[in-house]
Amino acid sequence: MECRHTHIQSGTCHSFPEALLKLAILSRAPRCYSTQRLRSAALDRGHDVKVLNTLRFGIDLSGPEPDLTFRGKQLSHYDAIIPRIGNSITYFGTAVVRQFEQMDVYTPNTANGIANSRDKLRASQILSRHGIGMPATTFVRDRADVVPAIQRVGGAPVVIKLLEGTQGIGVILAPSVKVAEAIIETLQSTKQNVLIQSFVKESKGRDIRALVVGDRVVAAMRRSAQGDEFRSNVHRGGLVEPVELTEEYQRVAIRAAQIMGLKVAGVDMLEGTDGPLVMEVNSSPGLQGIEFATKLDVAGAIIDHMANQVAFPQIDVRER
Ligand code: ADP
Repeated sequence: MECRHTHIQSGTCHSFPEALLKLAILSRAPRCYSTQRLRSAALDRGHDVKVLNTLRFGIDLSGPEPDLTFRGKQLSHYDAIIPRIGNSITYFGTAVVRQFEQMDVYTPNTANGIANSRDKLRASQILSRHGIGMPATTFVRDRADVVPAIQRVGGAPVVIKLLEGTQGIGVILAPSVKVAEAIIETLQSTKQNVLIQSFVKESKGRDIRALVVGDRVVAAMRRSAQGDEFRSNVHRGGLVEPVELTEEYQRVAIRAAQIMGLKVAGVDMLEGTDGPLVMEVNSSPGLQGIEFATKLDVAGAIIDHMANQVAFPQIDVRER
């Protein structure tokens, strides 16, 4: 039988063609590009796949074994799940993923991994303990500590970030200490927590998104901000192009994903003068931009990785 899997680098296929999975994609957006692509990649490979609305699960703790209901009825058996948990439902979504973990259903991204990656401060704290290069970052609460914190990361211009922002919203470049102080004061007065981060000028409005699946980078792109915008997010008009990553960038991206407990992750890095600076590790990376930029079958790589992990769980244990 011809191998239709994407891990053909070594020339041999390690998947059992007959190891067909019953898969659930946890998503509230059945029609969105990423969900559709994951679904069709699973179907193409002969797996049984359902898209289940994360918010329709019930966590059943009444019996001796952990259980789940879906739309009010007991959930049938699944071999693996692909969590695509939106930011607005992190708490409930990670509780559902945790329940699947307790039921020994394979998930590439654990509830802890998803929760840790959602909070920019917590993610930075974890990554900094493992020697991953990051832009200098501080977090303070008291007004009197703001100016010293800005100085500690190198002074103005300085980047201010909301802890749970996405798509570049809540990422501000303050040109002077005075403006930075005013922004931070305003945000804190509305009970928003903010990070103060050094502005990595040499990245010139560009960043790298590496799509990590298992222990390899399956696709990478460079995003470039347009005009006088410094944020390269596609939602902010950033342009994308495929990029061949050096070993160092690949190694850092894979390490960052592993440290966060994510087997599927979009790792965002700035190109610093001394190498990669990790900004963020995304647990539900969008597939449209990266598949469009690279023309690679990222969805297929994710499904193949999962089929391997379910067929050979001992490899997963060794990797940990
Ligand atoms: P989000 O999670 O909202 O995408 P990011 O932290 O990834 O927020 O920042 C959005 C964009 O802003 C990045 O893609 C990058 O282009 C730019 N950016 C963020 N932090 C810095 C920084 N410290 N120095 C320079 N550019 C940055």
